[in-house]
Amino acid sequence: MSLTVVGSIAFDAIKTPFGERERALGGSAVHFSLAASFFGEVRPVGPVGDDFGEREYEVLRRHGVITDDIEHVQGGRTFFWKGEYDWDLNTAHTLDTQLNVFGDFEPKLSQEARDSDLLFLANIQPDLQRHVREQSTGTQLAALDSMNFWIESTRESLLRTISVVDMVLMNDAELRMLTEEPNLMRAAGAVRAMGPRVVIAKQGEYGAALFTEDGFFALPAYPLETVRDPTGAGDSFAGGLMGYLDSQGGAIDDATLRRAMTYGSTLASFWVEEFGCERAERLTRDEIDERYEQFKRMTAIESVPAT
Ligand code: AMP
Repeated sequence: MSLTVVGSIAFDAIKTPFGERERALGGSAVHFSLAASFFGEVRPVGPVGDDFGEREYEVLRRHGVITDDIEHVQGGRTFFWKGEYDWDLNTAHTLDTQLNVFGDFEPKLSQEARDSDLLFLANIQPDLQRHVREQSTGTQLAALDSMNFWIESTRESLLRTISVVDMVLMNDAELRMLTEEPNLMRAAGAVRAMGPRVVIAKQGEYGAALFTEDGFFALPAYPLETVRDPTGAGDSFAGGLMGYLDSQGGAIDDATLRRAMTYGSTLASFWVEEFGCERAERLTRDEIDERYEQFKRMTAIESVPAT
């Protein structure tokens, strides 16, 4: 199977109560790709500028991420995001967003990316997400993420993009904001009525909830005592989840989705232990599987009957 992702490729300035970084490698497609790389091949799509060099490519390549669909825009600058968290680490306060090379990016996918079985439209301008979806004629399963920035500025476009995907993964607050429904069950129902069969609400340190035709499932976050920087938690969750689904032939029955969420949460738990994607650099598949097994025992996930 194969997995492609479009999303931001970025430099992030991050400040949390536990420290700061001025220019960490980040972006939704980067966090996603690194997390998914533990399950198989992944191909990020997106532009970078002259400031994105060998050092950054090397982080991706070391994890086996295929970088052929990353477009270098001569004379351009890479997407830049600046955010801060206070003691409530669930909420990122955006201080600056510079789209830079994303400003007039027109994605042109390689044949391999078009043929990809699974596609993740990570957080980026929804028109771009839709253009990628339209080109991916070989895709069997397309999923999407977004955030308040795009709900506020490009709502209609986002609604159109949601109608052409199978699965939506968004923060619970953003699902409520998008649908103008304070009740999460109703908000998820409203998104499913737009077309997607599956909705997953990410709930930060409280975990994630799954809404499908067959039912509902809730998973707590892996209990951690050390959280230094939540940046990338959502994208590494999505990368672990989609990477696992890819490794399972793209199945989206409830039992497979529950396991995929458990892998997603496991990946996210490693991500938040350190800044940006620093923890990913040393992470191994054995560590992931060990924590997954431990998490499964804690949540008794295997005793939940599959629907
Ligand atoms: P999350 O996984 O939700 O914590 O997302 C973190 C990543 O989102 C950061 O590495 C940022 O570079 C990226 N990001 C922040 N704002 C935006 C935006 N408006 N569009 C796309 N990506 C963004």
